[in-house]
Amino acid sequence: MHLDPRPSSVAARRTFLDGAFRPATVRIQDGLITAVEPFDERADVVVPAEATLLPGLVDSHVHLNEPGRTAWEGFATGTAAAAAGGVTTVVEMPLNSLPVTTTPQALAAKRKVTAGKLAVDIAYWGGAVPENLGHLAELLAAGTVGVKCFLAPSGIEEFGHLDDAQLHAALAELAVVDGLLIVHAEDPAHLAPPGPLGTHYAAFLDSRPPASEAVAIARVIEAARATGARAHIVHVSDGASLPLVRQAKADGVRLSVETCPHYLTLTAETVPDGAASHKCCPPIRGAANQELLWAGVLDGTIDAIVSDHSPSTPELKETGDGDFGLAWGGIAGVQTGLIAVWTEARRRGIGLERILPLMTTGPARVAGLGSRGTIAPQEPAHLVVFAPDSHTQIRPETLQYRNTISPWLHRTLTGAVAATYVHGDLTFTAGHAILRRGGREILPAPAPAKEPA
Ligand SMILES: [Zn+2]
Repeated sequence: MHLDPRPSSVAARRTFLDGAFRPATVRIQDGLITAVEPFDERADVVVPAEATLLPGLVDSHVHLNEPGRTAWEGFATGTAAAAAGGVTTVVEMPLNSLPVTTTPQALAAKRKVTAGKLAVDIAYWGGAVPENLGHLAELLAAGTVGVKCFLAPSGIEEFGHLDDAQLHAALAELAVVDGLLIVHAEDPAHLAPPGPLGTHYAAFLDSRPPASEAVAIARVIEAARATGARAHIVHVSDGASLPLVRQAKADGVRLSVETCPHYLTLTAETVPDGAASHKCCPPIRGAANQELLWAGVLDGTIDAIVSDHSPSTPELKETGDGDFGLAWGGIAGVQTGLIAVWTEARRRGIGLERILPLMTTGPARVAGLGSRGTIAPQEPAHLVVFAPDSHTQIRPETLQYRNTISPWLHRTLTGAVAATYVHGDLTFTAGHAILRRGGREILPAPAPAKEPA
């Protein structure tokens, strides 16, 4: 395949359009898609028959940890990994940067250090903590797409969690401006106290039982119902909680939920002793639970599959020498999300077209990013050449994020990202370092000023 660095047309016999694969040519000018036309083999780039042309993926749950914790990750490495994984838009979490993004000043400090580093587009979540309740609208006005809170300790001191009254207060405040609250839903009363748990995964799993999620999710639903605000549950791991979500949605509660590649592809039964690379919160649960999650993917209960890319240093992962209670919790998955999920989907006989919406338009809707994640006129020319029948070996030297820790390390996954275009520019091609850093910030338009009463 000839890869023009800035093509004015890309043609593929299998282009993902309106939920299905069709032959098409995408016309591009100044980084924007101008038209989608019938397949034309004279296009600047003609995708080989064995590959597909996808819209760039949207990952609405990514921790890049800059400024402040750049030993864990950073904008340059994290967005390079995104591009290599076919992700062209990330929404960055308010932690674990220092300062955490809980004030307009902290957002400004974060935005300042992105300059020249972004391989893909970025939007920002703000944070809702006990100290900034009453000021969440200011964070939205400053350019965040919504705010995140925890219902249990976040793992870092500077980002406190909300109790029930504070959760209601946050949602009531956001309801006024139609802002979105995204929630890490684990209930602290159902979590084991922090401390050593040993190197067997089962002890860690028992320390964060399904009830910890179910109770917290029920609390969020109740508060969203009472306030009329929009709420989103991040990284649902407990499949048995999904009936609560189904019922709430049926009742008209403004709720959306996401799950992650690790919950859909890894199981508690197969986590090796001491494998801290598999530790995250809530935990990867058992195989029977995973069936419930896949049912939620297929029936539309789950709105998005996003990475929760949450890296740390090897030292933090090795704290306690494989003790699941002491190691840092978090899985770095922004580069491997698509191929991990595709590997498992294909094994289950589920078509690529069934999972793509949850990795493109689904997360875009969650984060309020309009029609991102589609190949359509007036959208940025974020395009991915993806070979679904190829394979990708996960090796440290091909992972582009800073600390090459992964539960998929040394595994061979199905599918390969051959090339990623960002704003029409070739940004990643397999086997090469990142070629361009033309990613841009996405700042929501400020809400119209309220008329004085
Ligand atoms: Zn997270």
